[in-house]
Amino acid sequence: MPATIIDGKAFAAKVRGQVAAHVARLREEHGLIPGLAVVLVGEDPASQVYVRNKGTQTLEVGMNSYEHKLAVDTSEADLLALIAKLNADPAVHGILVQLPLPAHLNSDLVINAIDPAKDVDGFHISNVGLLGTGQKSMVPCTPLGCLMMLRDHHGSLSGMNAVVVGRSNIVGKPMAQLLLGDSCTVTIAHSRTKDLAEVCRRADILVAAVGRAEMITGDMVKPGATVIDVGINRIERDGKAKLVGDVEFASAAEVAGAITPVPGGVGPMTIACLLANTLTACCRAKGLPEPEGLTA
Ligand code: NDP
Repeated sequence: MPATIIDGKAFAAKVRGQVAAHVARLREEHGLIPGLAVVLVGEDPASQVYVRNKGTQTLEVGMNSYEHKLAVDTSEADLLALIAKLNADPAVHGILVQLPLPAHLNSDLVINAIDPAKDVDGFHISNVGLLGTGQKSMVPCTPLGCLMMLRDHHGSLSGMNAVVVGRSNIVGKPMAQLLLGDSCTVTIAHSRTKDLAEVCRRADILVAAVGRAEMITGDMVKPGATVIDVGINRIERDGKAKLVGDVEFASAAEVAGAITPVPGGVGPMTIACLLANTLTACCRAKGLPEPEGLTA
């Protein structure tokens, strides 16, 4: 039987609707408008598109969007001064510095200068530590989106075997922490893993976050497994540009029980979770109840 397609686009629209409804209530009942500041250094075309999309969607759910576009040669001191200003600004509840930064800027230093309570990307070392110790934190958007889709599809994840392929700080590691938090038995695979196919075939939940086009094929998927494809790879096929995931969709969909497509799977959930995190940050800052179902 072909796999159920997990429609990330539709799910993201639902999440944005929940965020918008909560934002409208905050405005009516408390006169509060959550605000997200996005900082872009330089003119990387892909980053410019991401920042534009984030700004548009922030406004669409009724939040304030503050875009700060800085020249490519901005000094670290000037960038840190802007972050200090945003940290102190009560109208700003979330701060996101678009990565990658130009090479002369120290990303770790810059990210760790953000107030952890406003760190809606969840990359600050405090949030990494809080997530790792199972405490309330800001959770990185892409893994949070994956977790939401998995919970929606399965209900409880308790006791399931999860394999995360990829151990990056922004996807693989936080994904594994979140699955562990939901009581999965978690394996993290990476470029040195021996017999990756055999490791993947143990997974009830298989998350691919590798950055290699269509590397996970159907023969690596356990029959009935749920496959979450985080990868975004631009390839050329039959002379046309195409976006594909880390999973070979056609062969995996023949074996899996459920699968996210690329595009239209994890991607749209990432920005939806950024908006959810901004709302959560605003509620926490004001001591108000957090939105239900939008946090880990
Ligand atoms: P990184 O390059 O930071 O990490 C890739 C990971 O994959 C590494 O841990 C690496 O292992 C592992 N890996 C590489 N080759 C192999 C292999 N042959 N076998 C097993 N593991 C391998 O990537 P990111 O985590 O940042 O991103 C992963 C993918 O997700 C990319 O396609 C990216 O574009 C996409 N992405 C999508 C997002 C979305 O919104 N949908 C958001 C963020 C990322 P090792 O550590 O040993 O080198």
